[in-house]
Order: sequence, then C-alpha cells, then structure tokens
Amino acid sequence: MKKPEIYLEPKDRALKVIELLEKEHSDAKIALHYASPLELLVATILSAQCTDERVNIVTKALFKKYAKAEDYANADLKELEQDIKSTGFYRNKAKNLKKCCQLLVEKYNSQVPKTMEELIELPGVARKTANIVLTNAFGVVEGVAVDTHVRRLAQRLGLSGNDDPAKIEKDLMRIVPKDKWMGITDLLIFHGRRVCTAKRPNCAACVLNKFCPSAFSFSKACCRHPFSSKQCKNNA
Ligand code: SF4
Repeated sequence: MKKPEIYLEPKDRALKVIELLEKEHSDAKIALHYASPLELLVATILSAQCTDERVNIVTKALFKKYAKAEDYANADLKELEQDIKSTGFYRNKAKNLKKCCQLLVEKYNSQVPKTMEELIELPGVARKTANIVLTNAFGVVEGVAVDTHVRRLAQRLGLSGNDDPAKIEKDLMRIVPKDKWMGITDLLIFHGRRVCTAKRPNCAACVLNKFCPSAFSFSKACCRHPFSSKQCKNNA
C-alpha cells in the first residue's frame, strides 16, 4: 500500500523536494557575482555571516582594485580590511584572504586549485566554500555545500537529523543522487530565503507542506497547532 506523503523515506522525500523546488525556483542559481575562480573564492570567503547582496556591492570595487592573487598577497592588511569592512568580521576575513592568496602564489602558480583536498588547506576555506568554488567555477562535484539555509531546511524537511554541517552534508550525499548535489544547494537556499525563512516559515504557501514533517508546527502565525513560537523546537 502506498504510504501517505508525510511518511516518505528520506531518499524519496529528497527526490520530491528537488522535483517540486525545481519547478518553484527555476531561477535558483548562485547569487554571488564573479568572473573567475579567484573572484568566486574571494566572494565566498566574504559571504560568511554576510548577505550576498552586500558582498556583491563590496566586490564590485574590490575586484577592480585586486585583480590577481598577487594583489591580495601583497596588499597592505589595514587597507584590505577597510576595503571589505562592510561585510563584517573584516579583520579575520582580510587576514584569511591575504594568507590564502599568498599560498596560491607560492604553491599553485597564482591559480585556484581544483580539488577538495587542496582547497580546504587554504586559510578561510572549509568544505562549504570549497564545494561552492568547485561546482560553480570548475563543474567539479565533490559534495553538497551546506550553508545556514541548507542546514535549516535539511533539518526541517527531515533530510538530516544532525546539526553539524559536515554531518548534514554526508546525510545529503547519501540520499540525494550525485547529479543533483550541485542543484539542491541553490534550491534549498532560494526556498529558505523566499518561503521557509528562519523565523517565519510560510508553510501555508509552501509547495512542500504535504510531506514536510515540520509543516505548520512553528507559531500561531502559520500554524494549525496550538504551539507558541517559544515552545516549538523548530523555531530556531
Ligand atoms: S512546510 Fe513549512 S517548515 Fe516545511 S519546508 Fe515548507 S515552509 Fe519550511
């Protein structure tokens, strides 16, 4: 007998999520502006704890001033800090950008490497950034980029019971077909921004609400159940 959609196995639910979100967000793609692997690497490092819109504003001028890895490697740290200040955490980001590009110059002939192992050795680059650069700049798919939206939606949709992004990535890699690893990140990010937001998910308008285990369980604003937003564990 066919199971009700709410009880779909995670693998089947993941396929359903992808199918529906591909129709819902056919425009889903990376929002950062870049014209080279180096620009994408820099923009992704700057996007930590910052909106893509803000990063795009900052990189418009930044990419004109710093065109090559050498420009960051030889930059005056204080000046670089000021150039990226509005993206937040600018001291740390400037230090990472400078060290990262020094390594690119010294070890990789000023080019961005094309493997996960090499990328995650660079200062300021963890798996999320490496996955974004590999898939979007080189078409190399080695994993699933898990940002704050992907993490939240994977949990709410019952695709992962973990909290750690590295474990969530493994869960998604297990249940999502490899040819969809690249797409699912953008789809979940778009859905997280437009519909399933952190504080006020719009379950009533969500195309996934028939089989989402968390549907209508957040607050009175979108809820069929008498939970308050404080009582609901999903309302983080
Ligand atoms: S039904 Fe609600 S909780 Fe589930 S994905 Fe949609 S908006 Fe998010």
